[in-house]
Amino acid sequence: MLAVVKEDKVPGLVLKNISIPSPKDGELLVKIKGASICGTDISIYDWTPWAEGHIVPPIVIGHEIVGEVLKVNGKNPRGIKIGDLVSSETHIFCGKCYQCKIGNRHICENMELFGIGRDGGFAEYATIPIRTSWKNDKSIPLEAMSSQEPLGNAVHVVNKAGVEGKTVLVTGLGPTGLCAVAAAKAKGAKKVIGLNRGEYRRSLGKKMGADEVYDKLPAKYLNQMDIVLEMSGNPDAIKLAFEAVRIAGTIIIFGIPKKEVPVDFGKYFINKELTVKSVFGRRIWDTWEEVSELLRNGKVDLSKMITHRFPLKDFEKAMNVMKSGECGKIVLTP
Ligand SMILES: [Zn+2]
Ligand SMILES: [Zn+2]
Repeated sequence: MLAVVKEDKVPGLVLKNISIPSPKDGELLVKIKGASICGTDISIYDWTPWAEGHIVPPIVIGHEIVGEVLKVNGKNPRGIKIGDLVSSETHIFCGKCYQCKIGNRHICENMELFGIGRDGGFAEYATIPIRTSWKNDKSIPLEAMSSQEPLGNAVHVVNKAGVEGKTVLVTGLGPTGLCAVAAAKAKGAKKVIGLNRGEYRRSLGKKMGADEVYDKLPAKYLNQMDIVLEMSGNPDAIKLAFEAVRIAGTIIIFGIPKKEVPVDFGKYFINKELTVKSVFGRRIWDTWEEVSELLRNGKVDLSKMITHRFPLKDFEKAMNVMKSGECGKIVLTP
């Protein structure tokens, strides 16, 4: 089968012909129907310090997928059947550690990551642990199914913030930032303001429901935001998040900075009496249930932000479009 492989600890990825994996005990074999590109995949392509710390090549990358179940191997507590369309939760939890036991499986202490720490789904076939597979409602558009993972991140971000009736600034309108705009609107934010340098994604921000979008936040909004959702990982945006949030406001940190970012603790944490929370992933399965509901009832329409489709073999072109910032979500099909 064709697969996009990280072969060595250097920038780049290669398209290879490898054998179809066979599912181990407790795993599914799926035929990939669609896979969307995540910012993480770009980090792996570029071989950033983050990738260096997380990836041991060779590995098939790609974690945002939808696949048709061909084989179910072993105990099947989730009731998955042949022919089901499943997506994979990226955070493969152990089920035994403290966090797993208290219901925080998404931040498992022994977490393995699909398409990062083990072979993923930029391929014609993939194996997925049954315990981290999500059976899709077939009324949801196929293209949206692979993007539930980032929408899940956004929904978890918005839930942690508590946006109802609040003025919300979203810094960074990459795919997950765009999802955060849509999720904040769906959950009753009074006003959602999107911030992004590139014009293309600002216009997508509008399409996803932002009331206002800017490349630079107008001065009148400094210290006025009830909530800031930091989705970019950009050091300037992180600084702005602290400037824009009102006294006693809330910041949710989601975007991963490429290097260490200094923060003025006295000025922000003490003087502004802020609440700062972070999000890593989405709750398993509470957030997935919510995501499915939002997609089923049309409260979030991902089709507006799925801007490009490429055959898997053209992944290199797709990666370049993603890096240009002139896109929303990109879906690869084998
Ligand atoms: Zn992702
Ligand atoms: Zn665990």
